[in-house]
Amino acid sequence: MAAVLPLARLPRTCQTRLTGSQMLKTHYCGDLRKEHVGQEVTVAGWVHRRRDHGGLIFIDLRDRRGLVQVVFHPDDAPETHEIAGDVRSEFVLSVTGEVAARKEGTENSDMPTGEIEVRARKLEVLNEAKTPPFPINEETEVEELLRLRYRYLDLRRERMQRNLRLRDKTTIFIRKFLHERDFTEIETPILTNSTPEGARDYLVPSRMQPGSFYALPQSPQQYKQLLMVAGVERYFQIARCARDEDLRADRQPDFTQLDLEMSFATEEDVLSLFEELFSGLVEDVRPDLKYVSPFPRITYEESMRRFGTDKPDLRYGMELFDISDLAGSSEFGVFRNAVESGGAVEGICVPGGTEFSRKDIDSLTTFVQGLGAKGLVSIGILGQPGSLDEEGIRSPVAKYLALDLVEAAAKRSDAKQGDLLLLVAGEGGKPKLEPGSSSRVRPSLDGLRREVAARLKLADPQMLHYAFITEFPLVEWDEDEERWDALHHLFVAPMEEDLHYFETDPGRIRSRAYDTICNGEELGSGSVRIYRREMLERVLHMLGMDDAEAQKRYGHMLEAFEYGAPPHAGFAPGIDRIVAQLAQEEDIREVIAFPKTKSGAEPMTGAPFAVTEEQLRVLGISVVKQPE
Ligand code: ASP
Repeated sequence: MAAVLPLARLPRTCQTRLTGSQMLKTHYCGDLRKEHVGQEVTVAGWVHRRRDHGGLIFIDLRDRRGLVQVVFHPDDAPETHEIAGDVRSEFVLSVTGEVAARKEGTENSDMPTGEIEVRARKLEVLNEAKTPPFPINEETEVEELLRLRYRYLDLRRERMQRNLRLRDKTTIFIRKFLHERDFTEIETPILTNSTPEGARDYLVPSRMQPGSFYALPQSPQQYKQLLMVAGVERYFQIARCARDEDLRADRQPDFTQLDLEMSFATEEDVLSLFEELFSGLVEDVRPDLKYVSPFPRITYEESMRRFGTDKPDLRYGMELFDISDLAGSSEFGVFRNAVESGGAVEGICVPGGTEFSRKDIDSLTTFVQGLGAKGLVSIGILGQPGSLDEEGIRSPVAKYLALDLVEAAAKRSDAKQGDLLLLVAGEGGKPKLEPGSSSRVRPSLDGLRREVAARLKLADPQMLHYAFITEFPLVEWDEDEERWDALHHLFVAPMEEDLHYFETDPGRIRSRAYDTICNGEELGSGSVRIYRREMLERVLHMLGMDDAEAQKRYGHMLEAFEYGAPPHAGFAPGIDRIVAQLAQEEDIREVIAFPKTKSGAEPMTGAPFAVTEEQLRVLGISVVKQPE
């Protein structure tokens, strides 16, 4: 094999300077253009594809900036041609040769380097490669476990390279944006005390104090508030966090937050800062995507009423409508019983939905039943709303439905001829902020609204519809533990106007918490904080902690608040989800270099792993064998 070639001098035209004379290449494959024609270059990368054409061998060589076609001619350099005949996909090569214009008619306008090729004079095989377990050179569906087992190969694929780069651009933008606004990035400990964010902690045993444990941070919540007490005023961190919870598509045990805190700030200061940040981010990293400005601000109560969820997809309409007040006197037993038990009858109006077949509606019924609804009542509006007669509606329960009830439903949902009303009736549930509404009606209508929108492709995939949801309830009732639980976390400030509910009806206390949502997904939460000892004590008591326990767990916060803690507020959207949306990926794993499976495993390195008896002994830990 040929020796490593000395580097040719770095040409001025190279778009990205390759520094250091020890580099095994003068140019990136993907950077070569017509302007390089006539130059001798050395490129290095992976064999993307090889084709033999009666004597001529073509190799598409790939590196981080793209592909270039390399041609090996038996007459130009016979030895080199021979080596080229033996290389396989994913071999690592270094090729020296002259950049030449492709012959007329052989240009490839799909490739940025498609007007040129490199005529190989020398070839060195820097390393060989086994046949990869899945193709790197095409976008094929590969089973997730296999992708994660060979993540280093999966990441070679163009889409993944693009995602990694997009993530980098995102954090660069965020850092620049916040530094320009006088924020300081400060790291907080990874081995820490427990900060409850509603999940289990990952515990790390302390060797020096056997039997004691650190927790990995569920978030830097307490540290960032302590930094406000410390007079930092404007803090942020691209923070790694870990929460031990059951995993769904949008969760990872370890994840990254943009954690931020500001002193002397109100809700409005934080929200307008983030509105500017998100808008600027889209314009910077995905200028081809659209966003809506200004970002809507919707209270929790309004969001639940209009969409049945606190994270609505705002890219389409189909808002919920409520006919509970009328349905109570209906002849239709399902409606009447629901309302009489303190429940509700609510629905959505599907534009043009009379086109749905019986089968479509049956499958939607099964779908909402899966979400806990008893059933689905469909009413097709065949006639003109306002003058509907029996012929004008189509419903399996038409004979029980009074025309004026249907007219009222059509009016409330602004239905047009050809639309379809889909109604869910639900028995009474535990009232939260929306007394009277049933517990399953809204969640199932939220699901239904999303499902119908997906089937009808109502959401614009090029749109990022950000919004803020505000005034969340402070606490929610925990059925299992039979006590109130913080909806966000312990340090969220309650709204002044609702303080009188502390003793009478905690479920009605609204908080100064807010979420950012986008396209039906939550990106993160924040709030104006508690910064006085008395208020924190009051909340801890309401959550069932006595003074001794409050002191034991949160004594450091209670104490810090006694030393001139300034009012402050903050936010912590998740970087993984933000980037996934910018990359137009459904699953956050696609924008995380080394993600975990749904069971929390990392198939490439084999984490989590069993440890030796000796390791456990040093830590003073013994493992109880789990029953099979
Ligand atoms: N620490 C909170 C969380 O992780 C966010 C915040 O309130 O800033 O959800």
